[in-house]
Amino acid sequence: MKAVVILGDGMADVSVPELDGKTPLMAAHTPAMDRIAKLGRNGLFRSIPDDMPTGSAVANLSVLGYDPHICFQGRGVLEAASLGIPLEADDLALRVNVVCIENGLMKSHSAGHISSEEAAELIHDIDRHFRPEFRLYPGLSYRHILVLPGGHPGITCMPPHDHLGESADALMIRSDVKEAADTAERLNGLIRESRKLLGTHPVNRKRRDEGKLPANSLWPWSPGRKPAMATFQERFGVRGAAISAVDLIKGLAVYAGMDVISVKGATGLYDTNYEGKADAALDALGDHDFVFVHVEAADEAGHEKDLNLKIRCIEDIDSRLVQRILDGLARRHIEAVVAVLPDHPTPVSHGAHTRDPIPVAVWNTGEPADGVEAFDEESAKSGILGMMQGDEFIRQVLGKNKIKD
Ligand SMILES: [Zn+2]
Repeated sequence: MKAVVILGDGMADVSVPELDGKTPLMAAHTPAMDRIAKLGRNGLFRSIPDDMPTGSAVANLSVLGYDPHICFQGRGVLEAASLGIPLEADDLALRVNVVCIENGLMKSHSAGHISSEEAAELIHDIDRHFRPEFRLYPGLSYRHILVLPGGHPGITCMPPHDHLGESADALMIRSDVKEAADTAERLNGLIRESRKLLGTHPVNRKRRDEGKLPANSLWPWSPGRKPAMATFQERFGVRGAAISAVDLIKGLAVYAGMDVISVKGATGLYDTNYEGKADAALDALGDHDFVFVHVEAADEAGHEKDLNLKIRCIEDIDSRLVQRILDGLARRHIEAVVAVLPDHPTPVSHGAHTRDPIPVAVWNTGEPADGVEAFDEESAKSGILGMMQGDEFIRQVLGKNKIKD
């Protein structure tokens, strides 16, 4: 039996007073997701273990049945995989931003959302300067990859977006263990040297002339080594494909041995190509057993604390993606398990991720429905799947374990 998992990043929420106590999922018109809940089996899933950070990488690893305690090695290695950057086992990979530091303070984590072209020029020049001690690879806008061969992961780095307005000197990298002292020292040296090199770079002179913020420092964070992950095929014997606009999710799929399918117009925002993703998922089911479709939009709306936008994103996911996949499966006579879920809540009241358990619905025509009528945080509580954790969700989807009725 084939399977498709549709994940709306950050869709889950909490009771909202403006909605008479309903959540956005309850208030939104979602006949397709409700149908999956009604015909299928429902429950809650603890996607973020108590001792792990409330990030999408951790949550999506859990959804795919991987233990984030073992497999989560930071954003750097995931984004590196998505960009096709080769990593050796002893390479330390970090996400590196080009940032703007002004009067010693962290002014902008994105150097004013610098263009990819300008940033690539900076990264290229700085890479040439630092090789072979460090390697730098350009990504999109302010988001790049830094590799330190032989670097030790036992360090604490500060994500620049969490420390805007703070003293850059106070945010420098610290070692957690004595074996990592040299790594921290070298990375701090790189930051200091980059400030000298970038401060006078022609790209930044031009940016200043145009009234834009200069990208005058590198800022490495989220360090890790390549995770040793068994592929989906090795673990479950199924060939998987993943569809996402987000590098973090694509990288995770690469390590899970899935084919990453690019969809034109997939932006990671509200204007994403929902129909294109649905059609790509249906096509992928032709030669894959498992397809994972990730949609970022609702999470972004949650971060922006925009309730109406979040509801619109949920309704778009429902009518333009989920419904289209259900229709396509029927038309193409593909028999597949269909599951829908978020990865974690991103409550609009809060504007950030939380670790509350998420609602899941799994429709497998071979198994009886459990009487749940709708897909939302409240309805899922009475589902037969109960409270799941670890790899219980993905095993349910893949039919790898029967639950007790
Ligand atoms: Zn997420």
